[in-house]
Amino acid sequence: MADPKGFLTTTREEPKRRPVDLRLMDWREVYEDFATTKLQKQAGRCMDCGIPFCHQGCPLGNLIPEWNTLTWREDWQQAIERLHATNNFPEFTGTLCPAPCETACVLGINDDPVTIKRVEISIIDRAFDEGWVTPQLPVAKTGQKVAVVGSGPSGLAAAQQLTRAGHSVVVLERADKIGGLLRYGIPEFKMEKSRLDRRLDQMRAEGTEFRTSVNVGVDLPVSELLAYDAVVLAGGATDWRDLPIPGRDLDGIHQAMEFLPPANRVASGELDVSPFDAKGLDVVVIGGGDTGADCVGTSHRQGARSVTQLEIMPKPPEARSDAHPWPTYPMIYRVSSAHEEGGERLYAVNTQEFLGDDAGRVRALKLVEVRNEGGKFVPVEGTERELPAQLVLLAMGFLGPQKQGLLEDLGVELDARGNVARDKAFKTSLDNVFVAGDMGRGQSLIVWAIAEGRSAAAGVDAYLTGRDVLPRPIAPTDRPIA
Ligand SMILES: Cc1cc2nc3c(=O)[nH]c(=O)nc-3n(C[C@H](O)[C@H](O)[C@H](O)COP(=O)(O)OP(=O)(O)OC[C@H]3O[C@@H](n4cnc5c(N)ncnc54)[C@H](O)[C@@H]3O)c2cc1C
Ligand code: SF4
Repeated sequence: MADPKGFLTTTREEPKRRPVDLRLMDWREVYEDFATTKLQKQAGRCMDCGIPFCHQGCPLGNLIPEWNTLTWREDWQQAIERLHATNNFPEFTGTLCPAPCETACVLGINDDPVTIKRVEISIIDRAFDEGWVTPQLPVAKTGQKVAVVGSGPSGLAAAQQLTRAGHSVVVLERADKIGGLLRYGIPEFKMEKSRLDRRLDQMRAEGTEFRTSVNVGVDLPVSELLAYDAVVLAGGATDWRDLPIPGRDLDGIHQAMEFLPPANRVASGELDVSPFDAKGLDVVVIGGGDTGADCVGTSHRQGARSVTQLEIMPKPPEARSDAHPWPTYPMIYRVSSAHEEGGERLYAVNTQEFLGDDAGRVRALKLVEVRNEGGKFVPVEGTERELPAQLVLLAMGFLGPQKQGLLEDLGVELDARGNVARDKAFKTSLDNVFVAGDMGRGQSLIVWAIAEGRSAAAGVDAYLTGRDVLPRPIAPTDRPIA
């Protein structure tokens, strides 16, 4: 156990976010530094419970009480060793994970939970600073060749596990840079891309090969893909949900994933100005989730005149309701850093129509309040109104993987939800083809993508060698405790 009285003497403390007016002037991460002494005291709040529910909350099964104790004892090198034992990329989860471990923390039953995610990012930051994150070279090569399609967190986790297991791994990515949504979806202010680049340096030094601008199914026929000894499909769930209502074809209405990638390219210096810049515009984001929040934060940094985020569901409660008891991940009202920076959030509203000007550009939305009647959103009579908008961003989630091209050419079976079907070992209906991440699971989270990549790698390694040595943190059917 860390500090036996820590949970009694220390209250939860998080690092401060930088002042809003300052952070809106740049793209950098929003948190200020946190003193090591403070962090150790936070780790010391961990009670090292007999049954650590945080393990169950974390899809990776991170050994949270172990590294909390090691952090409290200032044994940072052992702490990173225990953290890397279950998580290839703690710098991605430590910045981006919604931390279901914390909502499952036993201390959270009657007090504030341990700041697990903050301890996680501090351990890996320290490890990189100290030079402890070095290439882990395979003991022996197997002579087997594996292709991983897609370079998001699931593809990267699978590739790292398989390279370290001795296989020759090539990652094929259709974008011009490696990283999947970590690179061009998630804004810099949530995770600086330098974190991704330094991890890719480690992977290259270990022997993983990366090929960019290769759209498999278009630039590389699937016959060539199938010539590899094994394949991992990790192409994500990129088929976005649209809003086919009157006025949808007006100029100025874009998908979030059309808007965010060029903004990220501006932040990284690859582009001078985004073609969808929000400067001086009234922006409306349709969709109240994380992707929508990323659009809000990005619009503010681009200098939008106003930003409004719309959500069809009612405003969630401030605290856990009976529908989401401990240790589940509750639906509660959350204020992300992007929301703290301004704008308005409207709940229980639906968009009936986009209204345009004479030039064919969107000028407003026709909104109506709705109430939920048996799962159907019914308009409340007399509540129709116009909301000015010269830029509308659709952030209503994703329907699943893109079928055209790769998946249709391969002819893999899909499940009832349109994702790639897989068995217990993450193998698809094709003999040497496996699947990991959002492509098999549907739109999810980075922590699940890493867990799936690790588990699929175990399936591939067993298929190629007959051994059973790589960890399998999850089964394909595992779902969040909700
Ligand atoms: C805007 C946004 C913000 C998000 N923020 C968070 C967050 O804060 N925290 C969190 O936990 N989750 C977040 N998510 C969800 C998270 O990013 C995804 O669940 C995760 O990235 C899925 O990983 P993946 O490896 O399965 O796929 P992806 O990250 O989507 O990567 C798939 C890759 O495959 C490539 N690809 C697809 N088809 C082919 C092909 N035929 N040939 C070659 N390459 C191909 C794509 O170009 C892409 O690079 C966010 C999602 C979005 C859209
Ligand atoms: S990966 Fe996410 S759930 Fe797991 S310990 Fe880290 S913050 Fe918690």
